[in-house]
Amino acid sequence: EPKLIVTDLSASVEGAPILRHVDLTVNAGETHVLMGPNGAGKSTLGHVVMGDPVYEVTSGNIVFDREDITGLSPDKRSRAGLFLSFQAPVEIPGVPVSSYLRAICEGRPGAGDMKGKQFRRHVRELAETLDMNPAFLDRELGVGFSGGEKKKLEMLQLLLLQPSLAILDETDSGLDVDALGVVSRGIEAYRRQPDTTLVIITHNTRILEHVDVDAVHVLSRGSVVAHGDASLIDDIDAHGYEQFAALPVAC
Ligand code: ADP
Ligand code: MG
Ligand code: MG
Repeated sequence: EPKLIVTDLSASVEGAPILRHVDLTVNAGETHVLMGPNGAGKSTLGHVVMGDPVYEVTSGNIVFDREDITGLSPDKRSRAGLFLSFQAPVEIPGVPVSSYLRAICEGRPGAGDMKGKQFRRHVRELAETLDMNPAFLDRELGVGFSGGEKKKLEMLQLLLLQPSLAILDETDSGLDVDALGVVSRGIEAYRRQPDTTLVIITHNTRILEHVDVDAVHVLSRGSVVAHGDASLIDDIDAHGYEQFAALPVAC
């Protein structure tokens, strides 16, 4: 059963093409990895699937749970069960992490239906699952957050919202051991929840060491240049992306 079908997707920013005729299918329950050199368009693909209005879709479409979502607002996509994590620099002094988490669950099934006390207990349990100090929940949102703390916030959001498709965009910059641990535990906990499908965007293959990967897609200059199984990760680790560079760019 396909969860996400991207067909012939092209997208531009201010008239400049970035994605070129991307095809990608992710079946429900699978874990896919999207790899590619810096600037390949990986993050852009995540943002376009999520409906970021910065990007103009110039061809193709996006089908999620059999519904064409190409024209839907990001909010509608989120409510339909799509989630994109990226290190959004939200910083709201005076607002504790716990209040922010409560706010993003508002009006949604699951955590959004919980009473205050029940919600707080639920969040504390999730924090424990992630091996986090519950004092983090009282921190001021975003203020002075380290890379690892940003990851903690992202993973809490992921586990609270329980999207049926999560796209995790791991920044190319190095994650410290703390952050890697949080992400690994977050991915494991997410996968234990029912009806979850995962796309991990990364070229940090250390994140993938403990993840069962069903498929790998390689993006280069805005096009998908290779599809494969998990063995492609080791191949890229050993030989890099040059092996794909000779392929012509689709236009
Ligand atoms: P990756 O995540 O694979 O490193 P990105 O999707 O971030 O690549 O970027 C792909 C290309 O598109 C880059 O050349 C980048 O500069 C350009 N790009 C992405 N988003 C924007 C934007 N909002 N405005 C201008 N250029 C952008
Ligand atoms: Mg990049
Ligand atoms: Mg990126």
